[in-house]
Amino acid sequence: MNNISEVLEQVKTMAISGHIRPDGDCVGSCMALYLYIKEWYPDIQVDIYLDHPKPVFGHIDRIDEIKTEAEGKKEYDLFVTCDVSAKERIAPAGEYFESAKKTVCIDHHISNPGFADINYIRGDISSASEVLYGLLDKEKVNRSVAASIYTGMAHDTGVFQYSSTTPETMCIAGELMKTGFNFSRIIDESFYQKTYIQNQVMGRVLAESIMLQNGKCIVGYMKKKDMDFYGVDGKDLDGIVSQLRLTQGVEVALFLYETESQIFKVSMRSNGKVDVSRIAVFFGGGGHTRAAGCDLRGSMYDVVNNITAQIEKQLQEQED
Ligand code: AMP
Ligand code: MN
Ligand code: MN
Repeated sequence: MNNISEVLEQVKTMAISGHIRPDGDCVGSCMALYLYIKEWYPDIQVDIYLDHPKPVFGHIDRIDEIKTEAEGKKEYDLFVTCDVSAKERIAPAGEYFESAKKTVCIDHHISNPGFADINYIRGDISSASEVLYGLLDKEKVNRSVAASIYTGMAHDTGVFQYSSTTPETMCIAGELMKTGFNFSRIIDESFYQKTYIQNQVMGRVLAESIMLQNGKCIVGYMKKKDMDFYGVDGKDLDGIVSQLRLTQGVEVALFLYETESQIFKVSMRSNGKVDVSRIAVFFGGGGHTRAAGCDLRGSMYDVVNNITAQIEKQLQEQED
């Protein structure tokens, strides 16, 4: 596939969806495609399904049109996923993926097996939003579409800072900026800004974090009862693992929080030596070499022990 128009021929109904617990890249890429179709293909009846996006994405046009639940039986001509690494992670309209006449996957996870009829997966590109941009007609990327793509790119590159950021990423960001949206506001309000409670929780996790493996690994955690105490959910914990990763000397940062009793959502970030995607895939998750995640069952100590054993193994392999 070179251009999204190739898969739109004969299409009358279309659904777009992303992954569970959608992040900025997921919301940005899905909304950008939705806005593009709405603007340039008005004859296509398009729906967008996303799992309760955070209010910080309120600056994206038409964000209120997102459907957060499937609505009975439907058979779309086309179902497109953006930023989804595996079929099981489509949320919330996975059933429509199954019933669709044609499916397309636009993604950038190296762990992606290619689960759709047509797969456009670029593991070398920092965000699904940037991958999507490559499939659009440049002159059709208006201000609304550009702001949404920019949001996704900024989020998955840590504001154009991670090593996945390329000269091409910056050129595209520059092209998008020309459309005239308020880029500083997007970055401030959707990426850096925290509520008072979110800052308090981050402070607590950092204060209680532990160093393992001679300071090469740092672990932060939050138990369900503490999340309930502060009244926070997973969305409020964004950015904590990134802060842990910045600790001097650390190769891998782990952050886990309890989604249900003894079930943990694990986030991993690497500074380069350890491929955390390999570890995530080993435990049934996925991601990228420097940012990956998985969901694990057991006590917190089991989870930490199991994961750190894999980190240790990779660090050992390199010393041998
Ligand atoms: P997170 O730590 O949740 O920010 O996720 C980091 C990266 O890993 C993202 O690109 C996610 O899409 C991916 N990821 C996280 N959890 C999982 C999972 N359980 N299965 C597959 N991919 C995951
Ligand atoms: Mn994502
Ligand atoms: Mn992404």
